[in-house]
Amino acid sequence: MTGILIGRFLAAALFLAGYSACAQQAEVPTVVLVSLDGIRADYLTRYNPPTLNQLAAEGVRAEYLEPVFPTKTFPNHYTIATGRYPQSHGIVSNTMYDAQLGHFSLSNRRAVGDGRWWDGAEPVWLTLHKAGVKSAMYFWPGSEAEILGVRPAYYAAYAPDVPWETRIGWVMDALALPKAERPHLLSLYFSKVDRAGHNYGPLADQTRDAVADVDRYLKHFVALLADRGLLDKVNLIITSDHGMAKTSRNSVVFLDDYVSLDEVVVTDWDPVIALAPKDGDTDALMAKLADMPHVAFYKKEHMPARLHYRSHDRIRPVIGIAETGWRISSRPYFRRNAARFDGGTHGYDPADPSMHGIFIARGPAFKEGVVVDGFASIHIYEMLCAIFGVAPAENDGDLDAVRHLLN
Ligand code: AMP
Ligand code: ZN
Ligand code: ZN
Repeated sequence: MTGILIGRFLAAALFLAGYSACAQQAEVPTVVLVSLDGIRADYLTRYNPPTLNQLAAEGVRAEYLEPVFPTKTFPNHYTIATGRYPQSHGIVSNTMYDAQLGHFSLSNRRAVGDGRWWDGAEPVWLTLHKAGVKSAMYFWPGSEAEILGVRPAYYAAYAPDVPWETRIGWVMDALALPKAERPHLLSLYFSKVDRAGHNYGPLADQTRDAVADVDRYLKHFVALLADRGLLDKVNLIITSDHGMAKTSRNSVVFLDDYVSLDEVVVTDWDPVIALAPKDGDTDALMAKLADMPHVAFYKKEHMPARLHYRSHDRIRPVIGIAETGWRISSRPYFRRNAARFDGGTHGYDPADPSMHGIFIARGPAFKEGVVVDGFASIHIYEMLCAIFGVAPAENDGDLDAVRHLLN
């Protein structure tokens, strides 16, 4: 009798010990987060890229991914990484002014790499770092900066000319690292479709060709994953940061037709203008701008609540949002650069379908063969934390908005 009890006790103890060893060794998931800059939601049906649509058919596709305001590259990539609106994470546009830090623009390498611009929110690579999980963020905006004391375990200084094969090679090499060094969140970025959209417009043949090119890069990447036996182990998430709207030199409004350029400081121009009156008289400036057609001007504190764009010091006192398809310029700039307005741009209201991006995900964490309604990119951070089973930092997203995509 005693012998049987001891035997049962031992068996239970051994079972529990084995269970906890298993739990400790449970595989950490792997996620490759791909950003295809400027791929508009309707490009998937309009241009029918075969690899993207195949991945969608095998996984989850959202009807669209709704970006945040302003629908520009840096604010949106950092929202995906943090789950916070720009007014909280602090990357309030691609071009910014901060009273302490000075000027920020995408081409200002020192500013882009300065963590003080980015430390309003915790990016997912920092959340994972705290849980002992490494990340390899190649060209994700913010990944070059030391944010709140931490950089991704692997990253690269942004260089637009790095060939696509090299970018994919970096990810494949990182996936092949020994277990102790291997990153579990990786990213990949291609800007080719955005560039074509700016230069030629969303419906141009060149943009169709750019979508086909990026789709081929992905085909190559998927083939490499399959060769290594990784395709069904890795969670592939393919996103875009915003869409693209057609514009032309015939749909431009000029700030200097309404106010002297000597009277204002313009931080950001087009298609969302951010400015301040030099004399501090915001009401007088608003009165002059009221006559300007095709642009809705707001005092910062009166920005529509749904845009979540009021509270940060880096948001200028007056914000003007052009109607989709309209551009904002000045007469002297336009005289020299009229051709730049023929093509396309983004930055407009995120509710506009032309600003919507894509979301496709395939892998063990995701449902198979499912199309879901469009959702907001603000929720992706919570989704990533749920996949990794780590506690999210404070953010503006909600796991309930995206739980139905997950297995
Ligand atoms: P946008 O002006 O919003 O269309 O920004 C797109 C451009 O941002 C691309 O053409 C890229 O060259 C640039 N870009 C993307 N990622 C980075 C980065 N990490 N650092 C600097 N520039 C970048
Ligand atoms: Zn972009
Ligand atoms: Zn762009």
